Amino acid sequence: FSRLWGQDTIDLMQNRHILSPATLPPPKVVLHNQFHESINCSPSIMRCTLTKIPESNSLLQKSRLPLGIVIHPFRDVNSLPVIQCINIVRCRLCRTYINPFVYFVDSKMWKCNLCYRVNELPDDFQFDPATKTYGDVTRRPEVRSSTIEFIAPSEYMLRPPQPAMYLFLFDVSIIAQQSGYLEAACAVLNRHLDEMPGDARTQVGFICFDSFVHFYSMAEGLNQPHEMTLLDIEDPFLPRPDNLLVNLKECKELVRDLLKQLPKRFAHTHDPCSALGAALQVAFKLMQASGGRITVFQSCLPNKGPGALEPREDPNNRSAKDVAHLNPATDFYKRFALECSGYQIACDLFLMNQQYSDMATISGISKHSGGCVHHFPLYQKTKPHMVESFRSCFKRYLTRKIGFEAVMRIRCTRGLQVHTFHGNFFVRSTDLLSLPNVNPDAGYGMQISYDETLTDAKTICFQAALLYTNSEGERRIRVHTVCLPVTASLPEVMHSADTEAIIGLLSKMAVDRSVASNLSDARDAFINATVDVYNAFKIAQNLPSGQSGQLIAPRSLALLPLYILALLKHPAFRVGTSTRLDDRVYAMDCMKTLPLDQLMKYVYPELYKIDALIYHARNSNISSNQEDDEDEDEPLPELPRLQLSAEHLDSRSIFLMDCGTLIMIYVGLNVPPDVLEALLGISSTAGLGDYVYGLPNVVSNENDVLNRFISRLNYDKPYSALVQIIRDTSTAKGQFIERLTDDRSESSLSYYEFLQHIRAQVK
Ligand SMILES: [Zn+2]
Repeated sequence: FSRLWGQDTIDLMQNRHILSPATLPPPKVVLHNQFHESINCSPSIMRCTLTKIPESNSLLQKSRLPLGIVIHPFRDVNSLPVIQCINIVRCRLCRTYINPFVYFVDSKMWKCNLCYRVNELPDDFQFDPATKTYGDVTRRPEVRSSTIEFIAPSEYMLRPPQPAMYLFLFDVSIIAQQSGYLEAACAVLNRHLDEMPGDARTQVGFICFDSFVHFYSMAEGLNQPHEMTLLDIEDPFLPRPDNLLVNLKECKELVRDLLKQLPKRFAHTHDPCSALGAALQVAFKLMQASGGRITVFQSCLPNKGPGALEPREDPNNRSAKDVAHLNPATDFYKRFALECSGYQIACDLFLMNQQYSDMATISGISKHSGGCVHHFPLYQKTKPHMVESFRSCFKRYLTRKIGFEAVMRIRCTRGLQVHTFHGNFFVRSTDLLSLPNVNPDAGYGMQISYDETLTDAKTICFQAALLYTNSEGERRIRVHTVCLPVTASLPEVMHSADTEAIIGLLSKMAVDRSVASNLSDARDAFINATVDVYNAFKIAQNLPSGQSGQLIAPRSLALLPLYILALLKHPAFRVGTSTRLDDRVYAMDCMKTLPLDQLMKYVYPELYKIDALIYHARNSNISSNQEDDEDEDEPLPELPRLQLSAEHLDSRSIFLMDCGTLIMIYVGLNVPPDVLEALLGISSTAGLGDYVYGLPNVVSNENDVLNRFISRLNYDKPYSALVQIIRDTSTAKGQFIERLTDDRSESSLSYYEFLQHIRAQVK
């Protein structure tokens, strides 16, 4: 009976193979009959840590669960209703957009579901042009879809919509040149120049910097770009105001020319300096009038002029328990970002570093300006897989859609309020985020607190509204609304928990804790949160106290310790394993900004044994060889997900681990030669090198099926993962093994030991 109602419990000590055989769907939100479940916001866009909201703060406290939402507001979606209307219907009191969860008093009045004010409907809202009748308000797209986009009228803009403006800053110091990133970056830019979002007004510009700052003038009439160098970097100024940012359409040939010349131009430099601060200051002057996007490529510690930094990391201390220098060394970069934010400029950072570059400090340019950060440690043009990985990432970056001059506001039903935000932005007022740029790969998190109890409410709503200028110069508002039931029952609260959303929120809170206090505090908080939740559940269910040898969890929270342990072993939060400081800081940045689906793969990769795929390919031999119909592929067999433990490995099988941007294929020592031949085109595992990237192209059903399986894994990702093939005796094996977080290591507990540790603390 209780299973039927989603209230079954499980003893974690007795059920160590806890991961569901299939990827878990997000918990279902069950609403009262008045609202159709089908119209609720997609969980891939907005999810709450609890799918039933406690009616009061004291009830929430009893559950010991965090209340918050994780949101991926500008995600690429397949079908998005876009509407243009003169009157965008909003509540007169709280400015909430009309949505599927409002209450219609009659055909002329609606009651706001956030503040309960009764509002009048404009006449045109009641009119249905299709049937030419009045009164049927339920046909409106605003009431039928929880995700919708409005084309905004002029009162939603403070100035005419800005054109797309792109400015690229390239570090060309000697270290940058040795890594050879500029070649790849310019080639990708050249290839995808026409696919960058924008219209006839789009402008681009380029700045290089070493000890000095180099500008490129591309005036019409010039037959090639003209370089100017600024020598006085302590007091940077613009050498000339025009022709540095140029119209892409009109100057395309000059831009292409420049992109071909740049890698050669600095190929023989011996300049050890990188004046990032000065380059940023002039970039700001260049973009100030319009706003837009600054893309920074940096390959070493900025060491000259304003914003110069000193090395802080102690390389001998990379596995220490106390991690120092997670905070910025100077507020120069943060102040810069805040200034940018005021002028609708966002800064994105590609750190392609060979050595410590103080990511904790320089990433400030992105964190506080709505930008994004990408990291390619030890980038070398001689490593083809790195070049490939960078190319896919940078291509996605250049061609994905973009919103300019954006703000996002999260509204909640009366009684609730947002109190802490996570992600890259500037908080302008209590619930308003300033986003100079918004990109479709950015995730955000919000913690929610109570103003008052929700006794009268049966449901509550969160509504996110994102106002932005698209790359065609149109002002738009994308609105997402999620509706959740309210409950007064503690067991119901706990049975309705969404573990993945909770992990999404806790990981963000842990980053803040690490920075504001220290890493041990953050690690303790993870463990305490787990213990507290199971204690609370014991009380809620009236389970006997004392040591029973059991650890009883509601099914909804059964995966919590598995994920918490993986977080404790993640490069962001681990201790006892050597972790470069910049790598750790980047991992923390990912915790703050990855959307939930990507974050989960990053925290707890998906592991599959792919033998079943291979046998499936063999059995379907005849049917697929005859017809070459790509669209009518038969469905792949469902592979069970495995927990991350070496106990599943065996030497005759092949395993695949999807970590998000990297997919590792682990080939056992005794895989039959015919399988190796068909899948990888080799006769024995000895034919595999130590570092093999990409799936070899073999014409076979087996190879084809694996390719399809990988495409399916990549389907929801911003760009395809790099595939790495690892044989059992490879030196790369450690990279695979260290991700088996259920197993114990020299410095960390196994999953079972961790459960015992938790159980011992649950009273
Ligand atoms: Zn209202």
